Amino acid sequence: QETIDKIAAGEVVERPSSVVKELVENAIDAKATAVTVEIKEGGISFIRITDNGCGIERAQVPLAFLRHSTSKIKSVEDLMSITSLGFRGEALSSIAAVSQVELITKTYGELTGTRYVIEGSKEKENEEIGAPEGTTFIVRNLFYNTPARRKFLKTAQTEGNYINDLMERLALSHPGVSFKFINNGQTKMHTSGNSREKDMIYHIYGRDITSGLLEIDHKNEYFHVKGFIGKPLISRGNRNFENYFINGRYIKSALLSKSIEEAYKGFLMQHQYPFCVLYFSMDTDLLDVNVHPTKMELRFSNNEAIYKTLFEIIRGALTHKDF
Ligand code: ADP
Ligand code: MG
Repeated sequence: QETIDKIAAGEVVERPSSVVKELVENAIDAKATAVTVEIKEGGISFIRITDNGCGIERAQVPLAFLRHSTSKIKSVEDLMSITSLGFRGEALSSIAAVSQVELITKTYGELTGTRYVIEGSKEKENEEIGAPEGTTFIVRNLFYNTPARRKFLKTAQTEGNYINDLMERLALSHPGVSFKFINNGQTKMHTSGNSREKDMIYHIYGRDITSGLLEIDHKNEYFHVKGFIGKPLISRGNRNFENYFINGRYIKSALLSKSIEEAYKGFLMQHQYPFCVLYFSMDTDLLDVNVHPTKMELRFSNNEAIYKTLFEIIRGALTHKDF
């Protein structure tokens, strides 16, 4: 079991930012309205994530670390209409297989909380403790027991930057959640949790982007897309400024990127990429989010139509403007 967990962990936990992603998504699934992420040494030696969500019941705590244990899917039908961010029940077991995890949690209904320590899939402590409602995870020494994997990590600086980028995307995907991000004792980001999406973009990308955005709001038979695209003058030198969210989930999609970039052809200089923050709402029937464990890349059931429809929306928005 331990070995299987370690192998499975490789799919979910590639680097410190994967741990942060999974734990923050769990906090959001737990209906947290405030999430604090603190890291040291790029998250390699220390990650602490505190939320004010529903907590985990005492009796459920050890079970949450078992592989394929999820409280989020009850039936096969649920699998087809996934709205929570997590559903595979692999994150906690994978993280616990390759690090030293300490958990403090309390639900609203319980008088006392639980402190639970698990290292390399082995339970070390399980005790009652006074705790506020919500959950805190501390993940120490990632890959301490898999040195080969640890070798593949980049410098603390770079790993920390990955987490910073991730926090920005998480803040953009969930403007209703207040996020705080602390890196080596320095507060890098603190969002209010009640910003409009546009304010959030300014907050993260800076005020100079203010005058450079075109608003998009378009509904059709395939999706509803809202958000902002950059005027050609605020184009960027790489793809990192293309942000796509589908049903609240940050995703990468070669299809969406290609469609947008084609629409910008003739508006941008060579080797320039658009800036965009686009939120799609889409019927879950049209999606397959179960493609990869980290759920970043997803498949559409109707590629052609989605590509074409988005192209036309973006081309239309660019064509009718005078820059
Ligand atoms: P999944 O998110 O796919 O269900 P995980 O391994 O990420 O699987 O989490 C296992 C279970 O632990 C979740 O289904 C949930 O019940 C519980 N859990 C994890 N993190 C939290 C949290 N921050 N607050 C409340 N419950 C949590
Ligand atoms: Mg999860």
